[in-house]
Amino acid sequence: MPSTTITTIIQQARTRHRLLLTEVEAKALLSAAGIAVAEARLARTSDEAVALAREVGFPVVLKICSSDVVHKSDVGGVKLNLKTEAEVSAAFAAIMSGVRQAEPTAAVDGVSVQPMAKPGIEVIVGLTTDPQFGPTLMFGLGGVAVEVLKDVAFRLAPLTEHDARGMIREIRGLPLLSGHRGQPAVDFTALERVLVQVSALAEAHPEIKELDLNPIFAYADGCLAVDARIVLQPEGSLSAVRPISATTRTLLDRTFNPKTVAVIGDKRANNYMWLRGQSTFQGKVYSVQIDERELPGIEALGVPNYPSLAAVPDEIDYVMTAVPRQIAPRILKDCVEKKVGGAMFFTSGFSETDDEGKRLEQAMADTARAAGMALIGPNCMGIYHPRIGLRNYTELPAGEPGTVGFIGQSGTHTITFSIAAPYHGVKISKAVSFGNAAVLDASDYLDYLSADDDTHIIGMYIEGVKEGRRFFSLLRQVTQRKPVVIWKGGQSEPGQRAISSHTGSLAVPAAVWSAMVRQAGAIPVDTFDEILDVIKLLQFAKTTTGTGVGLVAMTGGPSVIITDAFARAGLQVPLLSEASYQELASFFNVIGGSFRNPLDSGGTIGMGQSSQNLERLLSILDRDPHIDAIAMDTGAGLVAGHWQTHPQALAGLLDTLANFAERSAKPFFVVLQPFAHEAALLSVREQFHARGIATFPNHDRAARALRFATDYHRFRAGM
Ligand code: ADP
Ligand code: MG
Repeated sequence: MPSTTITTIIQQARTRHRLLLTEVEAKALLSAAGIAVAEARLARTSDEAVALAREVGFPVVLKICSSDVVHKSDVGGVKLNLKTEAEVSAAFAAIMSGVRQAEPTAAVDGVSVQPMAKPGIEVIVGLTTDPQFGPTLMFGLGGVAVEVLKDVAFRLAPLTEHDARGMIREIRGLPLLSGHRGQPAVDFTALERVLVQVSALAEAHPEIKELDLNPIFAYADGCLAVDARIVLQPEGSLSAVRPISATTRTLLDRTFNPKTVAVIGDKRANNYMWLRGQSTFQGKVYSVQIDERELPGIEALGVPNYPSLAAVPDEIDYVMTAVPRQIAPRILKDCVEKKVGGAMFFTSGFSETDDEGKRLEQAMADTARAAGMALIGPNCMGIYHPRIGLRNYTELPAGEPGTVGFIGQSGTHTITFSIAAPYHGVKISKAVSFGNAAVLDASDYLDYLSADDDTHIIGMYIEGVKEGRRFFSLLRQVTQRKPVVIWKGGQSEPGQRAISSHTGSLAVPAAVWSAMVRQAGAIPVDTFDEILDVIKLLQFAKTTTGTGVGLVAMTGGPSVIITDAFARAGLQVPLLSEASYQELASFFNVIGGSFRNPLDSGGTIGMGQSSQNLERLLSILDRDPHIDAIAMDTGAGLVAGHWQTHPQALAGLLDTLANFAERSAKPFFVVLQPFAHEAALLSVREQFHARGIATFPNHDRAARALRFATDYHRFRAGM
């Protein structure tokens, strides 16, 4: 039984207190897992080595066999292409004396004898255990490609065949594998199989911490690992993934949908922001404050005040607190006694600052966990639920609920998104700023919003997650139902430094993080603009899995530039079908225009005013089989002034475009670039959004948004 062989090898190493397996052990283990290796057998003496070489068949390779030597070549421990018995015994002696010199204290088992493999293209398959994301696979080309160029791809285990295929095709050196200068292509299927096998091995044997197949020789037919290294986990370091609890979902449901709220410790210095935020709240609001000096201000807001939470003559679903950190743990205990659903702490100065802060936060986490209460934060802004008027900032709109949920580790980003989104036609269903995540982490809120019927799209701002594995497996499920757009802060090294003082998150290598996000089918973005743009497109536009874009611009220069932008985003700007060209030729005004794709069409559609020709042109793109999405530059730089003096001109254009957007099954959106007339264009933008058409302030932003949205739908379609 292969699996018992594997377990036996691991146990034997453990018994001998070894964490690094020798190549002989590692290859035996891999072989039992069904992975093709140049089998290595142990020889303790020169005579044994010669005998084994005879059995294996010349030429052979001899290597040092020691669990204390990590890099065998470095100690002169690898002798290749040994063709005779004499060469084998000479190599044995040379290896032994070499290692004695280089590493006098190394415990040496002997040498390994293995067949000399025929040369192939060297690739590397690696497995590491990320402290947060667990077993992570790496693929790259051997030699300088890995060491100097860092040309590698990552995926988290468990790896699907789709993942394996994707990671091999992701490396920049791909052309070297797919048949370079008349060489045959390597056997991709064999490499994919190894990746999946290593992933399965890591899953079945979490005791394996690191594994390196460096190199694997890739051939036109099959592949062979000629070196193998396995490192075991120190015992007792394995921890299982904590599942998402149904209780948490129920708790959050009560906390996000309160009928009664209490604000503790609001004060004039904060301009009573927490109490004033609830002026739109549809349920009951209570204040808890013992500072006499604050009472007149609270009274002026018309909110009943009590000296303690216990004194409030009502059940409380959600508590917002702004008390100093020293008394935060005591206030949390009051919340527990009052049996509230959840409490958020605006208070900062916890794990993001000093040891005392860490201790206080830990104490609060323990209290909340033991009581089964939702602790949000600390160091956060808590919940925004526009439909019921529950706000975490006084400038936020109430009512008018939308379909976009937002989960943010930063209060500012969460609030700013909540404020900005409606200006772009994007309305919020629910948002939460969760700060230090002492108990509830990004995963818990993601799980909650994934089950929330009002939320169709989820945006997240994250600096780090506490339990990466848990987040990954949940994310993978959620993206099957709803798009999740993740804006990660702290991708650069100095940025990571900023994180640890911000919300106390552990830093994850950027490559592992972005591999994780893409592998889970979420949309990874880098900036505020990107998260807003892609969410806007997802909300307004139809969906496609195709990459062909039909482009309409008014004049020559923009036609060129818009094409560059979509090509830069990795999309296609294909030629149209013959039928489309025939039809275009029948009415297109080629003077000062051209109609290949992009369609430089201002002359034909009267800068958007000739609705009949515009309609006709869009319909051609709609019918064209090469076109999957349609973008139009409205020429705002030239026509915005005209729109201002002739509002009916804009109204006519809007009618044509809105009708088309509704009728067409393809994504359609416009670029509305405010070269001048910024103020006037704000209202124009609003009118487009009110008619259900996404607008973008420049070509690149439009193109990138389409690329992200298309990638998501392709992922979902298994492409
Ligand atoms: P190290 O511990 O230094 O990584 P390796 O076992 O990888 O040692 O050997 C060094 C190099 O020798 C490999 O990169 C590969 O090119 C070559 N090599 C190792 N084993 C074999 C083999 N069985 N057949 C052919 N070449 C081999
Ligand atoms: Mg090696």
